[in-house]
Amino acid sequence: SAELLQQLKGKESVTKDGKKVQLYANIGSVSDMVSVFANDAEGIGLFRSEFLYLEKEDYPTEEELFQAYKSVAEMMAGKKVIIRTLDIGADKQVEYFHMEKEENPAMGYRAIRLCLDRPAVFKTQLRAIFRASVFGNVSVMYPMIISVDEVRKIKELVEEVKKELRAEDIAYKDIEQGIMIETPAAALISDLLASEVDFFSVGTNDLTQYTLAIDRQNAKLDAHYDAHHPAVLRMLRMVVENGHKGGCWVGICGELGADISLTEEFLRMGVDELSVSPSRVLSVRKEIRRSDLSVPKTDKNA
Ligand code: PEP
Ligand code: MG
Repeated sequence: SAELLQQLKGKESVTKDGKKVQLYANIGSVSDMVSVFANDAEGIGLFRSEFLYLEKEDYPTEEELFQAYKSVAEMMAGKKVIIRTLDIGADKQVEYFHMEKEENPAMGYRAIRLCLDRPAVFKTQLRAIFRASVFGNVSVMYPMIISVDEVRKIKELVEEVKKELRAEDIAYKDIEQGIMIETPAAALISDLLASEVDFFSVGTNDLTQYTLAIDRQNAKLDAHYDAHHPAVLRMLRMVVENGHKGGCWVGICGELGADISLTEEFLRMGVDELSVSPSRVLSVRKEIRRSDLSVPKTDKNA
């Protein structure tokens, strides 16, 4: 019950046999922090940064972005805050981006594709994130990655941004950089991607959509949108293995991460972090604390 879940506040997210899991929350705006604290999340595993753009009539300034990131970083007081860079596309209406209408926005000009194509917009956001990094424990994460080349281009832009900040005498930290694994391409080359970044976070919402070729927004297909499909779970397992081999920690920030029927399986795969809606934190903590990985289990989905 809700009352019993409340008793899990302040408790560790640790299995019976002592495996500690990072249990973070997903947020979309600074106002979501209320429920982050109410539900005792241990960090922010996904700060979706779209809202700052969607709610405006024109590009948010570096200062506006910086203030938002800084306030979340400060509120979390040393706990991790993973800021995802802009994931906007033709499906999201932002007039000032002047995007053409597309037949297939989910596979279109969006997210990192748009950011690499418009480096001035991207660098403004990167500057804000790196400036905010000195006010807490900030990491940055890039969405919709499909290639090593994209990651290298991003890292070049990041180096430019750092160089500019140094020239202006503005403080920043060399924060962790990670990528979302949310395309089958990224999952299948996760061994190569692992040597480029510090962490992976699996976006199961999009990974399911692209793996099954099922539009996540089409209600008529809801019955076919099966995140438990073995194709999705096999990729997840592969991503964890490849990530760990390449020295990355691996988390899940899609909705599937909150599915308590899979919590123990995720932990057995070696998932290091789960980032879920704030309202799901305590039920996932309950499931983690109930799991015992020292008891062997046969795995139906492998
Ligand atoms: C995902 O795709 O699983 C994800 C977390 O990103 P979003 O839901 O914002 O696309
Ligand atoms: Mg996504």
